[in-house]
Amino acid sequence: MSLVVLDNAAIATVDARGTEHAGGHIVIRDGLIEKVGAGMAQRPVETHDYIDAGGCLVTPGLVNTHHHLYQWATRGYARDAELFEWLTTLYPVWGRLTEEVTRAAGAAGMAKLALTGCTTIADHHYVFPNEGGDQIGALVGEAKRLGVRLHAVRGSMDRGQSKGGLPPDNIVEDIDEALSGTEKAITDHHDPDPLGLIRIAVGPCSPFSVSRELMEQAAVLARRHGVRLHTHLAETIDEEEQCLAEFGCTPAQYAEQLGWLGDDVWLAHTIHLSDEAIKRFGQTGTGSAHCPTSNGRIAAGMAPVRQLLDAGAPVGLGVDGAASSESGGLGEELKQALLVARFRGGATALSIRETLWMGTMGGARCLGRDHEIGSIEPGKVADLAVWRMDDLDHAGIADPVAALVLSSAPKVDRLLVGGRSVIAGGELRTADLDSITRDLAQAAEVLR
Ligand SMILES: [Zn+2]
Repeated sequence: MSLVVLDNAAIATVDARGTEHAGGHIVIRDGLIEKVGAGMAQRPVETHDYIDAGGCLVTPGLVNTHHHLYQWATRGYARDAELFEWLTTLYPVWGRLTEEVTRAAGAAGMAKLALTGCTTIADHHYVFPNEGGDQIGALVGEAKRLGVRLHAVRGSMDRGQSKGGLPPDNIVEDIDEALSGTEKAITDHHDPDPLGLIRIAVGPCSPFSVSRELMEQAAVLARRHGVRLHTHLAETIDEEEQCLAEFGCTPAQYAEQLGWLGDDVWLAHTIHLSDEAIKRFGQTGTGSAHCPTSNGRIAAGMAPVRQLLDAGAPVGLGVDGAASSESGGLGEELKQALLVARFRGGATALSIRETLWMGTMGGARCLGRDHEIGSIEPGKVADLAVWRMDDLDHAGIADPVAALVLSSAPKVDRLLVGGRSVIAGGELRTADLDSITRDLAQAAEVLR
């Protein structure tokens, strides 16, 4: 039995009614939210941990819907390139990936996400070199060590250059290796418990690096095991042109042919969508992982977020791999998403509270967990971000949610995952940040 009382904070619950408290409290029992309300908490008679969060805003922990943690070790390459040139520059570097490099990069990426308010991390891992060891095991081990929730998407590529694909042949698997490796990740690691840290999803990398057969069989495999499906889709004009030339249809039409639209699917980027495709995403409940910094960095375009939300499609936020963002912080992605939506559609294209919704409940919907995480409500898992609002950047701002979304990303004073403090006093408590940083620098050197 454990009891935690978080008190004296502004609270944005992100529940369906948009309930907020200028001053409120949250009671957490055994990792679940027992009570949230206005005013100071009544101190329970039982032994409990008491957290005075004066000067802070509490929100649900942010949910990252798309990442490639291993890319933390390959930041700063192909600096002024678009997607296909960026990929062909990086594929040979990624071909040298080892288990140790992925472990170091994974720890660094997860630490950065925790320090920027993220409690649940979807990571899409699709590079499995012959000498690469246990890549998924390395990421799962680091998530457990840091105490953050990981949706490890077991990716794959089976379409090397000799089969008309983009990646070199030496970093792709054959279809049997890809499917058996994916099934092994599910049986070894997937934990459906609401408080469990690790879930597995199935994620062939993209239509231009994966055969039609693998895309179709991966969907069958995922549905047989009741796990979710994820891939990249409609990221660039180059991808659309290749898809039209090769298959005679757009990437969204191709996805639908393959059985890849549905409420158990979320797709990274979804930038170049027709009105018809947006409607189909809404009708089928297909989710989008919106990654505005990465989309700008490689000049992919601006996703039609307003239109997707209006169509009723789930939209969450993602940082994408750090090789296409060099940052990997999720707090700052709130502001980026809002700016991109307004560049595209004007001042009313996205409100600050819709932006916070995307970063929390929208992401939870993409991952099929909106009944467990994404809002602060009794019965849900106690995944919470406590943001400092009393420093120079944020003190006195009229609306704490505006301070979170519009100002510089506030410092995370505390991060709770299932009621456990991963960050306290602004410091990572579950692992040593200095050694994570040293290991990351060494891992990057190994690949150079
Ligand atoms: Zn990606």
